[in-house]
Amino acid sequence: MTDVLDQTGLQQRRHLVTEIPGPRSVELMARRQAAVSAGVGTTLPVFVSRVGGGVIEDVDGNTLIDLGSGIAVTSVGASAPRVVAAVQAQVADFTHTCFMVTPYEGYVAVCEALAELTPGDHAKKSALFNSGSEAVENAVKIARHATGRQAVVVFDHAYHGRTNLTMALTAKNMPYKHRFGPFAGEVYRVPMSYPYRDGLAGPDAAARAISQIEVQVGASNTAALLIEPVQGEGGFIEPAPGFLTALREWCTAHGVVLIADEIQSGFCRTGDWFGVDAEGVVPDLVTTAKGMAGGMPLAAVTGRAELMDAVHPGGLGGTYGGNPVACAAALGAIETMRSEDLAGAARAIGERMLPRLRALAERFPAIGDVRGRGAMIALELVRPGSTEPDAALAGAVAKACHAQGVVVLTAGSYGNVLRFLPPLVIGHDLLDEALDVVEAAFAEVTGS
Ligand SMILES: *Cc1c(COP(=O)(O)O)cnc(C)c1O
Repeated sequence: MTDVLDQTGLQQRRHLVTEIPGPRSVELMARRQAAVSAGVGTTLPVFVSRVGGGVIEDVDGNTLIDLGSGIAVTSVGASAPRVVAAVQAQVADFTHTCFMVTPYEGYVAVCEALAELTPGDHAKKSALFNSGSEAVENAVKIARHATGRQAVVVFDHAYHGRTNLTMALTAKNMPYKHRFGPFAGEVYRVPMSYPYRDGLAGPDAAARAISQIEVQVGASNTAALLIEPVQGEGGFIEPAPGFLTALREWCTAHGVVLIADEIQSGFCRTGDWFGVDAEGVVPDLVTTAKGMAGGMPLAAVTGRAELMDAVHPGGLGGTYGGNPVACAAALGAIETMRSEDLAGAARAIGERMLPRLRALAERFPAIGDVRGRGAMIALELVRPGSTEPDAALAGAVAKACHAQGVVVLTAGSYGNVLRFLPPLVIGHDLLDEALDVVEAAFAEVTGS
């Protein structure tokens, strides 16, 4: 424990004064159950009062260590000073005009920043939206319009959102798709590179996927190949080296638009500005959201100017897309990432956590794989001596962590992945303490 104060005045320490959840949270959960749809899930039934740095304070006065960042959103923290100042100033001036009615500078400035930060030195343009799903839908619209082709190829374990088209693009049935069909058409799924489970080298895994596309879809029918450079909800699956490069080459050879869904992996999370940077792959279109705007809802499609301009005027947009308050937040968040080198901070988090987690895997044979890049790190849990997924163990370990005041999330097609997504501004002493809790949780749950 430390007495370091975050800039928000929130003490950067884990401190439990009640059971988790405490009595105020229990009361609010009862109100939630009465008023909120049961279809909206809850990872941790703890109601929040303040969040800053690496700490979440709840309504009972507990402070928890945050290894989730609201699902990879609050990379700069949930109350980053530059974001707070920019939002407050913008709210006082105006909250909305609709960029399509009377434009404002913040939207343009975000698009300029995206052109500068996304991979490749070609001419780029952007369009802004509200959610990641909406950005992915628009990337598909643009690719179809520009190529005059319809088929969209996606991968096993992919997650691209919950709207109708993006449900079709998402791989996992429960909870995302179950009984929500019929789904949008012309979506084709091919095998992902999954080194822990397929053992294939990147180029071989790419050849397997490409052969399936050519046989089942046809390159000349394919508008876009859509991929998360490091898969998020699917379990932080990092393709083997050479996989993305081979897909890039195939897309170039056949006029297929390569869309990188960087909504979870982008904006410094993996230790680079974008997940594709590690392999130097340049996508044609990039979708961003989550980490971009310090917690405010903003999403973007950025890509080759000739693709982005192929759509007729008025063909893209939306009432709230690129809201001025969200744009102000994004400019504050991007400035924070730049001036505080949060890509470097993400790498330092990985360097701090991975050796410790590898040691944990030596102690607990249920940890089948330790993987990740930067501050996007996962443990895949299996029955010892096999690769059979153990979702119950992942759930039990997460629950034990929550009870001790550490927010961790699960993921994976098989539900057997524990994932760690700390805010990039978290202190290393908090990380160490959180890992002590994770280790104790494994000991408690496995009885070893
Ligand atoms: C979260 C996510 C989305 C969907 O974003 P929403 O803002 O929840 O609609 C799409 N793609 C990836 C990779 C994501 O992680």
